[in-house]
Amino acid sequence: MPPAYPSRREFAGALLATAAAPLWSRLGCQTPPSRKLGFALVGLGNLSTNQLAPALQRTRYCRLAGIVTGTPAKAERWKAEYGIPDESVYDYATMRRMAQNPDIDVAYIVTPNGLHAEHTIAAARAGKHVLCEKPMEISPERCEAMIAECERAGRQLAIGYRCQFEPHHLECVRLTQEKTFGPVRLVEAGFGFTIGNPNQWRLDRALAGGGPLMDVGVYALQTARMLTGEEPTLVTAVETKTDPVKFHSVEETLAFQLTFPSGVLASGVTTYNAQGPNDFTAFAERGSFGLASAYGYSTPQGRRSDGEALRFDPTDQFAVEMDAFAQCILDDRPTTVPGEEGLQDVRIMMAIYQAARTGSAVRLA
Ligand code: NAD
Repeated sequence: MPPAYPSRREFAGALLATAAAPLWSRLGCQTPPSRKLGFALVGLGNLSTNQLAPALQRTRYCRLAGIVTGTPAKAERWKAEYGIPDESVYDYATMRRMAQNPDIDVAYIVTPNGLHAEHTIAAARAGKHVLCEKPMEISPERCEAMIAECERAGRQLAIGYRCQFEPHHLECVRLTQEKTFGPVRLVEAGFGFTIGNPNQWRLDRALAGGGPLMDVGVYALQTARMLTGEEPTLVTAVETKTDPVKFHSVEETLAFQLTFPSGVLASGVTTYNAQGPNDFTAFAERGSFGLASAYGYSTPQGRRSDGEALRFDPTDQFAVEMDAFAQCILDDRPTTVPGEEGLQDVRIMMAIYQAARTGSAVRLA
């Protein structure tokens, strides 16, 4: 039988009920941690450098204990900046030796999408819990292999869905689930940006799995699934390209529609060739609500059609996400964002690509 994960709704409710409390007590623990879990960052690119390493300094249950990098100069910089000992510095070929390092409890996989399985499996075989960035991988089969390996190792696998810990997003889940404006009938969500350097891995299907849908459109998909608490049964999609040279390997702009069992229709857009969109709106029978700047790292701006405030204090989404995972490990509870959650998004994104390719609706089981 699959493990009984707490539903997103239960978790969201618990987190929201104490939104004004300190971060660590909001996450369910009233006493300071007896020990902080050691996190190793696997891949020291933009996200690790600019978000995760600083966020780790703000966590209550985690600490930066190790690094995995293919660039010796980066290793030297990080060792000096964060006081990481030589024995906790690895490259991708030696990371399995983390098995002999009790100071590292969790490997946080922050490499290109198409390397997540390789690095997750290496970390699980070294006996480490794994937090893996979104999208989980570039095919359902690879996601399944990651889940299987972590299960075999008896270690937890979580996906880095930071918005599932962000109070504005959670409030929108509450407004939907409690039908504050009546039943939600339509969700519109979009996330995109103008991508720069044409030679980066994000434009290479082998490493990225796809274009903006895999990278940032997944946030719009997450919003639709989080708000409804349902799984889509029918998918349609269209794709357009204005620059077939730059976007020869992945899509440039894509729109998709999802139909949910309750009849909710979700409409999503994503692009690598326009600034924005970055917001969502839920339209219900008696009004609407949503977030502007919904998916960035800073605080979203909430809006409700009845004029009431939808506003919470700024949250470091990465710190909350890592603390939540650490607490699950420390308390021996299953994560609320397991590999199965990442797998489901990858399955739906593959259906979206199929719908765009064929021009036909794709039915999901
Ligand atoms: P990045 O390109 O800045 O960093 C990737 C790192 O992987 C680099 O250190 C690079 O050296 C390393 N790497 C190892 N093998 C590589 C190879 N064969 N080719 C290219 N790079 C290789 O990317 P990033 O923006 O840090 O993204 C990393 C992951 O984090 C991606 O899966 C991305 O989707 C995810 N991400 C998530 C968020 C979020 O908000 N949760 C934001 C940005 C990125």
